[in-house]
Amino acid sequence: MPYAYDDQNIFARILRGEIPNDTVLETTHSLAFNDIAPQAPVHVLVIPKGPYVCYDHFVLEASEAEIVDFHRAIGQVCQLTGVQPGEGGDGFRVISNAGQNGVQEVPHLHMHILGGRNLGRMLR
Ligand code: C5P
Repeated sequence: MPYAYDDQNIFARILRGEIPNDTVLETTHSLAFNDIAPQAPVHVLVIPKGPYVCYDHFVLEASEAEIVDFHRAIGQVCQLTGVQPGEGGDGFRVISNAGQNGVQEVPHLHMHILGGRNLGRMLR
């Protein structure tokens, strides 16, 4: 059972309204909110509303509607925060940590959208 979902994780609690969040965007299947400990001037997390542990879980098991909604939400957040390159912003990075080696802290899929400063080179 590789994708056991813990419904007590902090993002599940945010989705149930048990913990407040600083919402940037809410769509039918997704929620985007500012990271509580931002690593850049723009640091937004985008999460699906469904119970998915990590990215591979999501793209393998979510409906097409959820998958499209989630990726469109990421694009909308880039527009809303003004980080999209060539459109007045200076670019961004999207990261999703998964599992132990990915050093994933919260076991509910989330995409980090980072921007607003030069993020440096990550891969060589
Ligand atoms: O990718 P990872 O699981 O390590 O990241 C979890 C992220 O969730 C962290 O950037 C942390 O600051 C953020 N977080 C949050 N609000 C919470 C708890 C964690 O934005 N209540």
